[in-house]
Amino acid sequence: MIQCNYERMEDKIKTFSRFGDTGKGGITRFSLSDEALASREEFVMRMEAIGASIATDDMANIYATIAGTEDLPAIVSGSHMDSVRQGGNYDGILGVLTAMEVAETIVKEKISHRHPITVIVWTNEEGARFEPAMMSSGVICGKFDKETMLASQAKDIPGYTFREALEKSGFKGKEENRLDSSKTKALVELHIEQGPVLEAEGMDIGVVEGVCGMINYEFTFTGQAGHAGTTPMKYRKDALYAAVKTIQYLHDELDQLDSKLVYTTGKISAHPNIHTIIPDEVKITLDARHQDPEVIKQVLAVIKRIPSVVEQCEVSYEEAWSRKTVSFTTELVDYVEKSAQECCYSNRRIYSGPGHDAQFAIDLVPTTMIFVPSVGGHSHCEIEYTPVENCLKGANVLLNTILHIDKEH
Ligand SMILES: [Zn+2]
Repeated sequence: MIQCNYERMEDKIKTFSRFGDTGKGGITRFSLSDEALASREEFVMRMEAIGASIATDDMANIYATIAGTEDLPAIVSGSHMDSVRQGGNYDGILGVLTAMEVAETIVKEKISHRHPITVIVWTNEEGARFEPAMMSSGVICGKFDKETMLASQAKDIPGYTFREALEKSGFKGKEENRLDSSKTKALVELHIEQGPVLEAEGMDIGVVEGVCGMINYEFTFTGQAGHAGTTPMKYRKDALYAAVKTIQYLHDELDQLDSKLVYTTGKISAHPNIHTIIPDEVKITLDARHQDPEVIKQVLAVIKRIPSVVEQCEVSYEEAWSRKTVSFTTELVDYVEKSAQECCYSNRRIYSGPGHDAQFAIDLVPTTMIFVPSVGGHSHCEIEYTPVENCLKGANVLLNTILHIDKEH
């Protein structure tokens, strides 16, 4: 069995970790920042060196293509290069680096392939500098309005728009170069798991079946402000206490549902947020994720049972946003599983909790993903880590998956 190369994989990870290096083990590489542009230039240089032709589309997504022996649609693989502030060296970039390593292995080992093989770099997946996340895949897959996205303003430079960053980048290309169903046979994105499951279960590879559906609700508790020293407890309408009671209720009820359900209250605001004043308005969020829409319905039923008045405070809530479960292309999921087995790597099927560009791409082209373990489940932080051996195993599964797709008639 043909395998990717350990030293080359390690070199790629080390080299790209320099672009935006925080000096503390991680990177800050906001989309289209100088650091991100330097990593793109390195990518182009390395892909040209192995004979790839480079194209970019109108959202600055990059496509580096190795020609096949026949005039067929391309097999595409890659991910994003941008990071969150003080992020790690694996989220996104590992999907690009493993696809590069697969292309390099195919070229160096002279592996014959019928389809062109394209390594893709998506622009602005994180949305850490220009909101929203998955911006460019969203535009080309018809999820987001392009003009609205171009007007998105940088969080670090007031008034600086995504449109200006795009024009200045030197990577803005033609709309006709976009990922397109007629020119693409399949898309496979490798990513770190960003959670603890694969490592805890001793698995080398996650065979990703899809991306979990999720709901995000915002709750408002309205009470009455009052002096902390004068208002007897029985007369209080303490909105924060009502919120705490509700959070406790949600935990008690949601813990009864399926064990794969994950839910979080990650955001809370208290008004007026002064230590001598009883809070009169508190807002909290609830993010809940599960692959089965029936379980999400059960979560909604739990929410609907919250009384309209809790601890004498009025309760209202609304859906901030939601996402339906995305299922990846069955045949491609099977190829990933088969490839992992052929490589004798332990593997299990898994759903992704986080969102990825691949979940938008599937609206255009047959798509799937491969996960490799994240040590300690850490991600979006500087200690994010996946050993080179695991990255290489991921690359080998990606290589064999692509070769299976290539042989398919
Ligand atoms: Zn990512």
